Amino acid sequence: MSARHHAIVVGGGIAGIAAAVRLTDLGWRVTLLEATRRLGGRATSHVDPETGEEIDNCQHVTMGACAAYEWLLGRLGVADAIEWSGTQTWLRAGCAPTRLEAGALPAPLHYAGAFARARFLSGLDKAAIGGAMAAIARADREAWRGRTFGEFLLEHAQPEATVRRFWSPVVVSACNLGVERVSATVALMVFQEGLLAGAGAARIGVPRVALGRLWEGVEWVLERGGGGVRLGARVRRVEIEDGASGGARGVVARMGDGLEMVPDAVVVALPPARVGEVLPTRLRELLRFERVLEHSPILGVHLRCDRPILSVAHAVLVERGTQWLFRKDAPGRCVHAVISAADEWMGMGEQQIVERVWADVAACVPGAGDARVLWARAIKQRQATFAATPAFEAVRPEAGLIEAGVPIALAGDYTRTGWPATMEGATRSGVMAAEAVAGCAKRC
Ligand SMILES: Cc1cc2nc3c(=O)[nH]c(=O)nc-3n(C[C@H](O)[C@H](O)[C@H](O)COP(=O)(O)OP(=O)(O)OC[C@H]3O[C@@H](n4cnc5c(N)ncnc54)[C@H](O)[C@@H]3O)c2cc1C
Repeated sequence: MSARHHAIVVGGGIAGIAAAVRLTDLGWRVTLLEATRRLGGRATSHVDPETGEEIDNCQHVTMGACAAYEWLLGRLGVADAIEWSGTQTWLRAGCAPTRLEAGALPAPLHYAGAFARARFLSGLDKAAIGGAMAAIARADREAWRGRTFGEFLLEHAQPEATVRRFWSPVVVSACNLGVERVSATVALMVFQEGLLAGAGAARIGVPRVALGRLWEGVEWVLERGGGGVRLGARVRRVEIEDGASGGARGVVARMGDGLEMVPDAVVVALPPARVGEVLPTRLRELLRFERVLEHSPILGVHLRCDRPILSVAHAVLVERGTQWLFRKDAPGRCVHAVISAADEWMGMGEQQIVERVWADVAACVPGAGDARVLWARAIKQRQATFAATPAFEAVRPEAGLIEAGVPIALAGDYTRTGWPATMEGATRSGVMAAEAVAGCAKRC
């Protein structure tokens, strides 16, 4: 038997993986319990039953600013599985492509030259964006708490067309919510910490491998610390019990199969809609966020064409329902289309979705109109992320201990990390929860 502290981490998504790895690094023995048969949670891949190919639930993109996520990949030995690019290609129907690249000016002016040359924007758009960017660089995010980014854009006199051509594509893909609904604090963070922070922070990273492959090293890391991973292990309840000696409190995790585990601490790293189901009744009352929790859907569409259509690694489509395209093979025959905040697509069938995406592709991607789609697969995720509204931001729970002295910590992309629902937010929350648990154990 190991003399190390033992932690259970409930949920093998990125938040749970980050918590488990960090606790292992802090000298704990960690058991990571995941209800499904795969690690990665929402950031994973599966084998398509028709083709036998491993495909992602949806393309997942990271940015240079996502330092915690980069740490996690490094710790799992897969940092080099990310392909980085300092160029964004913007495609607008009827316009030549625009390559947005940082120039020689220091941040926050590094994109000034690229915007000045951008073909998808009018002179009026550029003047409006320049003024708003200067305001964003100076903005106090906290002062905007309770308001939407749409209000910020209105206050900074952004024309409707500029919102459609520039602000919406960036905000919807980063925050998975329209500008009129998303919290200004969250959207401002994306610009301040990403686009405006420097060329390095704004780089875009896309995995070269299927998402599920990124998590193959987790088991090895935990086993080296005396712990391990259990897949297909659904936790039914986490309960607080009086400790054996003199009233110090302990925790017990009750599994779906009737098994009980009594660790020194538990990190609950579940999606926001599930977390209340497992927490002890008394702690559940603290989860005020459930009352304002809403979800925002994402649609991922895999396409295989009869000829190469995309010559760049990825592209933003301007003023179209489809926001991003990613090249998935070297010739550019296989592409993945992403539609964030995809509410109006959720009622459509696969055929209709593919037709609509293809209309966007044919309109914007030079030369794509002659190609034919040979195979397509649309993957809808209705509860892709929480909706980062001002109301949700106001009650987002802290990542870490739920109550002083009780060794149960929360982690998950929905906790208060300052980030929208992202892999970075999930990683940060996991690290925060792990450190809170370890700190609690030291004090007890
Ligand atoms: C379609 C889509 C596209 C996205 N694109 C991006 C992107 O490009 N960039 C980006 O940064 N982020 C993106 N995200 C967001 C990102 O995937 C999430 O923010 C992140 O993966 C959330 O991780 P998590 O660990 O908090 O939650 P989850 O991934 O939801 O993990 C929770 C885990 O808990 C498990 N679980 C549930 N109940 C139990 C139980 N009772 N017992 C044990 N285990 C349980 C679940 O199976 C799951 O594995 C996207 C999300 C989606 C859905």
